[in-house]
Amino acid sequence: MRAQGLPDSPAALDEAELLFNELSGYLKPADISQLQNAYLFSQSAHSGQFRKSGEPYISHPLAVASILGRLHLDSQTLAAALLHDVMEDTHVSKAEISERFGKSVAELVDGVSKLDKIEFQTQADAQAENFRKMLLAMSQDVRVILIKLADRLHNMRTLEVLQPEKRRRIARETMEIYAPIAHRLGLNSIYQELQDLSFRHLFPTRYRVLTKATKAARGNRREVLDKILSDIRQRLLDAGLDAKVSGREKQLYSIYKKMVEKHLTFSEVLDIYGFRVIVKDVPACYVALGALHSLYKPIPGKFKDYIAIPKANGYQSLHSTLFGPYGTPLEVQIRTVEMHRIAEAGVASHWLYKSVDNNLNDLHTKTHQWLQSLLETLSDSTDSLEFLEHLKVDLFPSEIYVFTPQGKILELPKESTAVDFAYAVHTDIGDRCMAVKINGENAPLRTKLRSGDHVEIITAPHAKPNPVWLTYVVTGKARSHIRHFLKTMQYEELAKLGERLLNQALLSFKLDPAAISAAQWQKLAQDSGAKSKKELLADMGLGKHLPAVVAKRLTSPHESVPRSGGENGAITILGTEGMAVKFAKCCHPIPGDLVVGFIKKDQGLVIHTRDCPVIAKIHGNPDNWLGVTWDKDITRLFEVSIKMVAANQRGVLARVAAEIAKAGSNIDNVSVEGEGTYTTMNFTLQVSNRSHLAQVMRGLRRIREVVKITRVKG
Ligand code: MN
Repeated sequence: MRAQGLPDSPAALDEAELLFNELSGYLKPADISQLQNAYLFSQSAHSGQFRKSGEPYISHPLAVASILGRLHLDSQTLAAALLHDVMEDTHVSKAEISERFGKSVAELVDGVSKLDKIEFQTQADAQAENFRKMLLAMSQDVRVILIKLADRLHNMRTLEVLQPEKRRRIARETMEIYAPIAHRLGLNSIYQELQDLSFRHLFPTRYRVLTKATKAARGNRREVLDKILSDIRQRLLDAGLDAKVSGREKQLYSIYKKMVEKHLTFSEVLDIYGFRVIVKDVPACYVALGALHSLYKPIPGKFKDYIAIPKANGYQSLHSTLFGPYGTPLEVQIRTVEMHRIAEAGVASHWLYKSVDNNLNDLHTKTHQWLQSLLETLSDSTDSLEFLEHLKVDLFPSEIYVFTPQGKILELPKESTAVDFAYAVHTDIGDRCMAVKINGENAPLRTKLRSGDHVEIITAPHAKPNPVWLTYVVTGKARSHIRHFLKTMQYEELAKLGERLLNQALLSFKLDPAAISAAQWQKLAQDSGAKSKKELLADMGLGKHLPAVVAKRLTSPHESVPRSGGENGAITILGTEGMAVKFAKCCHPIPGDLVVGFIKKDQGLVIHTRDCPVIAKIHGNPDNWLGVTWDKDITRLFEVSIKMVAANQRGVLARVAAEIAKAGSNIDNVSVEGEGTYTTMNFTLQVSNRSHLAQVMRGLRRIREVVKITRVKG
């Protein structure tokens, strides 16, 4: 259709024609003609106005409408998009729009105009106020936000014409405010484009360099990619699946973010290929997953089931990372057609595919609930800054869902560890937790939980919070309880350790601790500058006084009996001492090792292996070492470090990881070096004792490619 009789540039006419052609694909003729009226009305209202680029102003509302048309939004939204700037720029009244195009369209235009008046400030306080307005508008009709996002997207696409300073301001605002909102609403393609455009104007040089490098690298990798793609297709076909497989181009900003956040080089990021598999239904997703896992080995711990537990914005898919050919990681996403639609268009898929599908209704309900809860926060918080804090948390959906052994679902913040989980279940569980089983496997307490994990905390009556936990817990509840416990218990613990140290020392002087009188204790405490016997013992635990010296004071000063650090009277390590006993990071002693202890000032007792090269260097004279033995009933896990040389072949790391898991151990840390025929892998593992370690190493030796395994000490 032509906008007849009106002066305009041919370009805008073509755009209008294109738009209406596209819209006639899903809108009724009556709607189309109403939209044509809106177009003509807007065009005449804006006539004589031009954009900074020199184009007639009408090109902007047209572009905004066509972005929304691609999401198949309803005709009211499109009419409002065409008219979105007339109230503000041309003094057309709301009443006039209402009269011509109906009340709903007028409300939408009014909503967008109000948002337009908001000049986002850099001050956090002003920003919060703006958010508040935006949300109020949004809660009334989410379509206002959709128009605003399309408006922002087109402005970002045409940002070049502005001054650099203004460009940066708008780009930052887009990155911080509009992109997160698009993400929260599940409008993925808009979200990603907003991010990339913001990145481009915030860091023009980095953007340019990265674009160029990406282009060059993609050309070089084409062959590998094609081979993987055809292998995947064949395997899915063999599995009897009708699947659409495509290589996923990584978004530029996500490449950049990965490089910055994970300290990766450009080629390391680009060496990760992304693939997407789209199948017809949910069962087919899991069949496809199985087929791909049999083609390439999955990397342990990288599988995520967002089908069983969808993300807060409604996103569903299976994610897995595989060891591809030449050891390159492949990230695959598996989803149904329906899920794909939601993944791309989020809340807009409600309009895009008007179906009675439960997923979509679900999504709509969820979004509505989210808005409701935000509004509650909004009316509760009088302080704008406080509100912004709430909002930030909410805009970046960061919760995970995990299961208790009873099958109850717990919601925790992202990055939560097993310790956070324990405290979330109950304070007592937190205070007494000593180990954890995640999905049936032993894991370190510091393990970050993922959605869908089944978590079982193992408690022991004597277990106590460890100060180290404070370095990795993320929930306020865990943090405050650990702090509280340590405040009261640290002192008790140190006193107990001090007593054990002293008893050992006394034994080597052939003195019975019970034989020391209260008066003797009091004098001794006084002489040592302590207020009480307990304080003196705690000071010993902290290493402020050497137990041997204290013990000597209790015996006749004339009788010089050398201290024996032998097996008799050695201190027994229970493994539950918390901060009072530390295991040296140089040699990683584990139960079964011959060990020695050393009192370090203000640190308590540090345990080393007897052959640790470090302790010999630092602590010299073995006379200062304390005899230490392991309690035979230790149940906790210990870190140990091993080094392995293996032939550099595809899948080695996966086989190694599988063997380690099979032996019931956990990998705490792994680093791989060397790119030639042989690779050296350094692992930090969790084992319960020497025989457990031996069992792990036996398993590893069975792997054909493994040439050499050694335990690392010092
Ligand atoms: Mn606009």
